[in-house]
Amino acid sequence: MSSDPAPSVNPFEFNACEETIHEIYHFLDGELTEEKRRVIETHLSQCQPCDSVKRFEVELRQVVADRCREEVPKDLRERIARLINHELDNASSADGAGPRREGNASAH
Ligand SMILES: [Zn+2]
Repeated sequence: MSSDPAPSVNPFEFNACEETIHEIYHFLDGELTEEKRRVIETHLSQCQPCDSVKRFEVELRQVVADRCREEVPKDLRERIARLINHELDNASSADGAGPRREGNASAH
């Protein structure tokens, strides 16, 4: 008897592992569509390396969440944040030093 679920979406197509790792941040943030979530969940359930990465991320987030309640040097927090979210790279700096000049378009 062969009880093979055979998912309609092949979780190992393309560079499934790379894709999964890339999407895992969005996956954990719940920013993915139902369909995408299912593909990743399926992949994670069948791919140990990716699953362990996910577990690591979950744990890391937990640690950071705990740590952030205490006083953590901003520098360290940023480094951890970057580890977690590689897309956090473009941190917007709100503080602009110096007065802003509103120049009317000076035609040249
Ligand atoms: Zn994988």
